Amino acid sequence: MSRRDELAAGLATVEDRIAAACAAAGRQRAELTLIVVTKTWPATDVRLLAELGVRDVGEARDQEAAPKAAECTGLGLRWHFLGQLQTNKARSVVGYADWIHSVDRPRLITALDEAATRAGRTPRCLLQVNLDEQAASDDAGRGGAAPADVPALADALAAAPGLELAGLMAVAPLGADPARAFDRLAALAASLRSAHPQATVISAGMSGDLEAAVAAGATHLRVGTAVLGSRPPNG
Ligand SMILES: *Cc1c(COP(=O)(O)O)cnc(C)c1O
Repeated sequence: MSRRDELAAGLATVEDRIAAACAAAGRQRAELTLIVVTKTWPATDVRLLAELGVRDVGEARDQEAAPKAAECTGLGLRWHFLGQLQTNKARSVVGYADWIHSVDRPRLITALDEAATRAGRTPRCLLQVNLDEQAASDDAGRGGAAPADVPALADALAAAPGLELAGLMAVAPLGADPARAFDRLAALAASLRSAHPQATVISAGMSGDLEAAVAAGATHLRVGTAVLGSRPPNG
């Protein structure tokens, strides 16, 4: 099978899963955006995905994403940055990312706002929430703000002229019931919308739990493995 056929088959499988999840939840496919997470995979795969109709791609590391986005200009893609982000990468990331899903602290908001303003860009930003009820204060590997910090972070993000507050993002905690985690995220998103009506996005659901995310009201799914195959062990 050619790589193009493999990717087409992966996309078809994921679209079938999304269609079934939408039917079960009484939702329309058009309410959902599928972001194909291309981290660890080459720009040639991104190009094939674009040919197959993919419009949204996700990346998690700036060192990898910046050159890949540069290689893939002109394909009409929207780039979503999903990974933990250091303030010293803000300038690079706003250069190509149309969306940033992993905003989780005041200093990062300041750094992104400065970089975006200087670059004349206005990335859509999501606040990443840490839904791990076991975690003390930091879930070191995955990032995300404590739910209690979301209102103040949202106010800061909404007040940043270079950034657009679009909603919330979360990763279901390892070992947790994703349905319970995503219901919690949906409740946080509803209270966010009461303060910031424009913040309608809920980014949730990966290869292993996209059905639970669709059921809980996600608007954006971030799917890698189920489309592209298993990443190398440390990918
Ligand atoms: C890698 C990654 C994904 C995709 O995960 P899969 O299990 O491969 O679908 C989604 N979201 C984030 C934040 C990621 O880092």
